[in-house]
Amino acid sequence: MQKSKERHTNTPTDASLVRSNCDPLLNSPLGVMDSVTDSKTSFNNSEVNQRSGKSGQDLRVPVLNMRGEPLMPATPRKARTLLKEGKTKVVQRTPFTIQLLYATGETKQDITLGVDAGYSTVGFSAVSDDRELIAGELTLRSDIKRLLEKRAAYRRTRRSRKWHREPRFNNRGKKGWLAPSIKHKLDSHIRLIEKLKSILPITRIIIEVATFDTQKMQKPEISGVEYQQGELQGYEVRAYLLEKFDHKCVYCGKTDVPLEIEHIVPKSRGGSDRVSNLAIACRECNQTKGNQTAEEFGHPRIQAKAEKSLKATAFMNIVRHRMVDLLKCDSTFGYITKHDRIKIGLPKSHANDAFVIAGGNGQYRCEEYDATQTRRNNRSIQMNRKGYRPSIRRQRYKQQPNDLIRCRGLICRVKGVFNYGKWVRLIDSVGNTINSNIKNVELIKHGKGIQFS
Ligand SMILES: [Zn+2]
Repeated sequence: MQKSKERHTNTPTDASLVRSNCDPLLNSPLGVMDSVTDSKTSFNNSEVNQRSGKSGQDLRVPVLNMRGEPLMPATPRKARTLLKEGKTKVVQRTPFTIQLLYATGETKQDITLGVDAGYSTVGFSAVSDDRELIAGELTLRSDIKRLLEKRAAYRRTRRSRKWHREPRFNNRGKKGWLAPSIKHKLDSHIRLIEKLKSILPITRIIIEVATFDTQKMQKPEISGVEYQQGELQGYEVRAYLLEKFDHKCVYCGKTDVPLEIEHIVPKSRGGSDRVSNLAIACRECNQTKGNQTAEEFGHPRIQAKAEKSLKATAFMNIVRHRMVDLLKCDSTFGYITKHDRIKIGLPKSHANDAFVIAGGNGQYRCEEYDATQTRRNNRSIQMNRKGYRPSIRRQRYKQQPNDLIRCRGLICRVKGVFNYGKWVRLIDSVGNTINSNIKNVELIKHGKGIQFS
């Protein structure tokens, strides 16, 4: 059973009935009351809401000015009052955003957005001087490679049936091309940041682009003061090696002993200081190995392992410069984040990392959003066609999975369409399936792209 996505916000239930261009139903005379209360969760109840101090008063509601530019967010109480007085309209449901209908003075404080860039999950946190304004984690799609391979296979069989085609080669080699799955990850990072920038007056962006500064690792001579002296001296190479070799001695496998950096080909025999020649070993093994190479010491596979880089690290190396160039923002490294996070005693999570990246230390934290990146078009192969050949759906139907829809007074989520897009299969808030003609449904909110919940 699929439950309708719950929202963890403190949405005012008495939103005013002003028209909006974005979410027409939310502002319609009938719309507001039931549409908002339907999707309310127990988290809106002050007794269950463990994380907020005073019945969710620590939340902030993003506010836009008349021109649609972001202002400093308001308290829920202020937002509720403004809505009641008819001075604002609702722009979007999650994160609940309002737009002022009158001109106002604009005082802005500094807001830093921290982004923990990642391969499968992105953490984000916007922090002002005294509190965290928005935070959460975005889950990226992981199905792109599989879907493209599937599409290529169908295409190949289709083309093999044609007996002549124009020669098709020498048409590749586009410069700056990224693999589609990697491009998706890069685009999603940028889309998320743009989205947050559109609701909060963010003044500075800091992105954690990689766990380790590989450039500084390979060429120790180009290193700043913090590497040569102070707390971080020698920290990054060690941390990298520990992660790579699972915090174990590569020779005897011990874990609970102090581990040292070890040269696979000893320096005395021409071995270099590059990470591809470094491993982690306990003192005993390091001493016993002495002047031998790892192969002579009876461990021929260590060398190959040392030369292999981590997949996520490789991904970040591809996109890090592009991301920072495109957004013209600042960057930081994972080992610094880790160091700072442990210093203020936060457990490891992407949102916590983002909070630290944004420069957070003692600020009041807010409740985290859980965001997902959803497919925009359900372009699928239709298999069960009552004896007919499978067909690929090429048309883009108006109703897409996860769209929020009103059908006969009920708020439902779209599961899919059938009958060539003339009928839609819906799931209501308790998980029942409803089939309906598309004439009887009304769109409340699209379910595509980045969805907050
Ligand atoms: Zn050992």
